[in-house]
Amino acid sequence: MTSYERVLRFALSKGIVFPSCEIYGEAPAGFWEYGPLGVRLRNRFIEAWRRELVRRDEMIEIDGSQIMTKRVFLASGHLESFADPITKCRGCGSIFRADKLIEEKTNISVPERLSDSEISMMLEDRGIRCTNCNGELSEVTRFNMMFKVSVGPSGDEAYLRPETCQSIFVDFLRIYKTTTNKLPLALCQIGKSFRNEISPRQSILRQREFYQAEIEVFFNPKKADEFDKFEQYKDYALMLQPLNEDKAVKVTPSEAVASGLISNRLIAYYLVLIQRFYERLGINRESVRLRQLDSEERAFYARESWDLEVKTSLGWLELVACNNRGDYDLTRHMEVSGQDLSVVDDGERIVPHVFELSMGVDRSLYLLLEHLYLTDSKRTILRLPYHLAPIQVAVFPLVDKGELTKLAERIYNDLKVDFDSFYDSRESIGRRYRKMDELGTPFCVTVDHQSLEDGTVTVRDRDTMSQIRVPASELKQRIQRLLEESWGRACDRGLGES
Ligand SMILES: [Zn+2]
Repeated sequence: MTSYERVLRFALSKGIVFPSCEIYGEAPAGFWEYGPLGVRLRNRFIEAWRRELVRRDEMIEIDGSQIMTKRVFLASGHLESFADPITKCRGCGSIFRADKLIEEKTNISVPERLSDSEISMMLEDRGIRCTNCNGELSEVTRFNMMFKVSVGPSGDEAYLRPETCQSIFVDFLRIYKTTTNKLPLALCQIGKSFRNEISPRQSILRQREFYQAEIEVFFNPKKADEFDKFEQYKDYALMLQPLNEDKAVKVTPSEAVASGLISNRLIAYYLVLIQRFYERLGINRESVRLRQLDSEERAFYARESWDLEVKTSLGWLELVACNNRGDYDLTRHMEVSGQDLSVVDDGERIVPHVFELSMGVDRSLYLLLEHLYLTDSKRTILRLPYHLAPIQVAVFPLVDKGELTKLAERIYNDLKVDFDSFYDSRESIGRRYRKMDELGTPFCVTVDHQSLEDGTVTVRDRDTMSQIRVPASELKQRIQRLLEESWGRACDRGLGES
């Protein structure tokens, strides 16, 4: 069983994620549900995102509509170019994504910029045929991946957003004016995006409906090196993989900017912030890299791109696309909407440039499961940092009997409002502990006979398995403090060897 299969089996068996509408056989692929534990894990991840990125950097969060009018996507270029190359089997009618098919069959990656006829030639030259019936494949055409919707009885044309950032661009000026009124300004949003993928696969890694967390930093390009926040991270160990290198090397932001590898201090600072974020989630620095993309691989609007990738059993997994989008977005929205979105910075009227950090949330959760669902000779543990655990505290009576049960229930009822809590009285205490280890629960509170005498309970730590006795009346504060300390430990790890 591969690591991927192991993680998926775990996720399905615990109801963390599972296919949408699964009782209906005809339901389309690419849609997944988060079950109770999945929702909590995702909530914890979002808390971490808000804490370590949004609040730490004083970003401004918005929540835009998922349905947006057609002209937004005329401006963004999605109507014209958000389309994947497809080919259809002339025998059985199967449809394939042409570039992926070539990659699968030949291990050659197909640059995004190739034209349809060039991709057709590649298929033909390499003798690639239908994987179902070995039939001949058609010429390559384009399939637009946006979901079109019609709004109201008049059927106005609109689209489910294929990325969350468009509302940030469209809303930029109002937010600028109603908040700081100065640059740089980091706006962000977390929410659903929709892409009508031709072949969704690998469960939550390539879905048609998925969560994105996007940050768009608006800045004055002339002042991208006058950026005070840079100082605090100038010696951080960034894991950079420059063009034409086959592995990442540690480079400090100071060195990277001085040598021109990263174009300015503002971008270097945000690359640190995003790498550091994953380190704080418990991912080893050695498993993270920021890979520089060349002009073939970059999106057409990007001037400088780095993909934050993490090593997994499936290869390096792209989690965050970091793009210097220049003034493309605001300029295009100005042209198409006819509205002036420029601002005055330092006495000069400018159209701000944008540096973007576009994160895939579902993939990040997969990554946590793959890296942290671990088995040793004794037990299986989901070794999430404590503050990311879906269940924060479990409460057990040592045995399910009379006064013990009553007291345990009372303690559980007292904790459940403040923490994601779990109560269990079945099976042996050892089995209950193991079950919680596997779900990553950091603290198990057990009510035993001594509890009835002196009002104390035991708190078992997931990682050390050691137990301390705590007065039941102090549980809430103690658990709160232990969770706080977990944030602190994650901080040390992130900053440790910088
Ligand atoms: Zn076929």
